[in-house]
Amino acid sequence: MNNFRDLGLCEEIVNQLTYKAPTAIQSGCISHLLNGKDLLGIAQTGTGKTAAFALPLVQKILKEKINLSSNEVRFLIIAPTRELATQIDQNISSYSAGCGITSTVAIGGVSKEEQLKKLSKGSDFLIATPGRLLDFIRGGEVSFSKLSALVLDEADMMLDYGFLDDVNEIISQLPSERQTILFSATMPKAIADLAKSILRNPIRVEIEPESTVAKRVLEKLYYVSAENKNYLLCSLLNSSKAKRVIVFCKAKYSVPIIVDILEKSGISCTEIHSNRSQRERDQAILDFSEGNVKVLVATDIAARGIDVSDVTHVVNYNLPEDSSYYVHRVGRTARAGRDGVAISLCVEKELPLLRNIQKKISRNIPLVENHPFHEALTSASVEAIKAPKSFNRRKRARRK
Ligand code: AMP
Repeated sequence: MNNFRDLGLCEEIVNQLTYKAPTAIQSGCISHLLNGKDLLGIAQTGTGKTAAFALPLVQKILKEKINLSSNEVRFLIIAPTRELATQIDQNISSYSAGCGITSTVAIGGVSKEEQLKKLSKGSDFLIATPGRLLDFIRGGEVSFSKLSALVLDEADMMLDYGFLDDVNEIISQLPSERQTILFSATMPKAIADLAKSILRNPIRVEIEPESTVAKRVLEKLYYVSAENKNYLLCSLLNSSKAKRVIVFCKAKYSVPIIVDILEKSGISCTEIHSNRSQRERDQAILDFSEGNVKVLVATDIAARGIDVSDVTHVVNYNLPEDSSYYVHRVGRTARAGRDGVAISLCVEKELPLLRNIQKKISRNIPLVENHPFHEALTSASVEAIKAPKSFNRRKRARRK
């Protein structure tokens, strides 16, 4: 379906939306969620999945107001990172402006007081990270007696972050009579088991398989010596086309070092990683999204969920150890129909990681050789950079 009305959304909501037409995940989910079905959504960030689950819930509030007493919540959304929880809250506010809908964010790293004050009036939405939510539950500071829906967003990331036990403990405290919605970019066995245990006759909507990079991303590989990596990075970031760039690093301790190098080269930047306070992390996202700085240097904490529009380039300063993070990182650009460039810098030591990534995405990342820092390829590096034999064979088989 290519309009929001046909999916069953009411005029009040449709008139507020700035989107022209529903995305595929929205077309697949919205009417089922309005009908109260459980849902398993397999979709990457950037596909519009937040609106896919949030719009039907907002409509339910508009259609049926209920009185919430102190600490009661109607819809619970659990997200793996503080930034993602905040972003979901911002999206919900934009979908329900002026409708009198209440929403509370419960995340760690900031004081509880404000969050509890909001919750004490009752809240239509509670959007929380697992740790802070468990705190509230154990302290008897939240009531789920009127809960009617649970959304678990980015479930596989919760698994990666070791939150699954917390999530199970939270779910054990919820009424079993509820609508349950689970979104995950990938379906590892632990998440498939979780889905099976908490969803009842779910509708399954699958949008993009985990190993795909959005078609609008132009991927480039630069093979470089370790000594030249920083020079190459600075020269790439100085290009006038690189207007808003996220640089991904492997380790949190290397982020400030790179920030220092970039600042000394006159490139404005900020940083996000788990050694920074929540206030600093929020400020970094704000500075980056408002264009006060050109570059955000980040660890994989920013690889998923974070939605800053108009990211023109993603640079993998280090290749990710886990190849699925290549797809997530690259997904920070070319969002909502725009184009983007994903640049991967690779030194000799990282060739095994490159091989895993290429296997994951079933093709090789085009190598850029025409640049001053290009490292001559040894026969071993040629072997690693070219497509793995197994998918060459698959390609040949398809051609026959
Ligand atoms: P999400 O996957 O929920 O993080 O959404 C990614 C981006 O797509 C966000 O900036 C949304 O505002 C945007 N978006 C969501 N739905 C639509 C739509 N139907 N048309 C255009 N952009 C959308």
